[in-house]
Amino acid sequence: MKTRRMFSKFEPYSWETSTTEIASAMRLRSSKIIRMDTNTSPYLPRDSLRALSKEATKMRVNDYPDTSYLGVRRELSNYCELGIENFVVTNGADEALDIITKTLLDPGDEVLVPSPSYSMFRVASELMGAKTIIVPRKEDFRIDTEKIESKISKKTKIIFLCSPNNPTGNSSSLKEVKSLLNMQGNKTIVIDEAYFEFSGKTFAKLASEHDDLLVVRTFSKAFSMAGVRVGYIIASKKNINKLNLVRPPNSVGVISLFLAQNALKDKASMNKNVRAIVAEREKMIRILRREDKVKVFPSQANFVLFRPTNGHSQKLHGLLMKKGFVLRNFSDYLGIEGCLRVTVNTPKVNVSFLNQLSQELHSLD
Ligand code: PMP
Repeated sequence: MKTRRMFSKFEPYSWETSTTEIASAMRLRSSKIIRMDTNTSPYLPRDSLRALSKEATKMRVNDYPDTSYLGVRRELSNYCELGIENFVVTNGADEALDIITKTLLDPGDEVLVPSPSYSMFRVASELMGAKTIIVPRKEDFRIDTEKIESKISKKTKIIFLCSPNNPTGNSSSLKEVKSLLNMQGNKTIVIDEAYFEFSGKTFAKLASEHDDLLVVRTFSKAFSMAGVRVGYIIASKKNINKLNLVRPPNSVGVISLFLAQNALKDKASMNKNVRAIVAEREKMIRILRREDKVKVFPSQANFVLFRPTNGHSQKLHGLLMKKGFVLRNFSDYLGIEGCLRVTVNTPKVNVSFLNQLSQELHSLD
């Protein structure tokens, strides 16, 4: 097979190692492995699963789904307080990014990514033959609007923001977004709001009104449905029509649509879980701040980024993994060197993680 020329210098997404592989490498049972590296929810969407099990034997899985995904768009319209014409439903936020880059990018175009940020912005863009220009964030991880402006060229088609930003946890402000929108050029601002529910801060309404702004969201985080694979794009009606030219007709399955629709009908359990995670996040940050061997960064998402100040992030990551706690290792990542990211879990898991972390930190002196 002779692949496209771009693969000669393409760096793919680095896939998370499977739990079975980690368990076997650490000589632990799979049940002892706690994934604190994927920013997913520790809670099952029980109400939606119960509703599914009631309906399952009658579901029309022999037919294709309604490819306009009208049922989910109706509920999204309620949830986001926007029109049903303001949504494209996708197979997770990653497919949303794919659809957006396919719609906007020609080979040779450029995209700007204030970094560190979510690596799929680069991957999806490069697969379209575009070039990624990294624009470093400020020391406190806010975007540097002046630096971004200096990098905008005729070729710039997308500026990717992530709010709250993975992996740093901070959100973008309305002032920042407006200043990007006011800059000259043919660029579209894409804001990934995968973690929006944990921050309460959104640009959804602005995206529905502004033709240079798109918002991407997912059911994978606050709605506890990473395995279900549903996401969506929020945009003006005009932009939605353009995105629909690219969207595959049947990428979201009947069962996934049912679960997403159901979760939106009854948001009480999602809201309860989000409140619990936010409370735990703040507790985790408070406890980590008491550790003098750790610098912890504020977060508006369901994860916390921290840096062991004794420079032992790599070793610490390995020691925690031996105990079954899997964190995301950013030891060599430009802009957040020596950092680890931990996903907030249940109160019980968080306590045992923090105790283990404290022990390992002191063992590393
Ligand atoms: N955007 C961001 C910022 C993410 O962190 C993730 C998941 N790691 C995704 C998108 C992917 O979401 P989905 O599961 O909906 O594809």
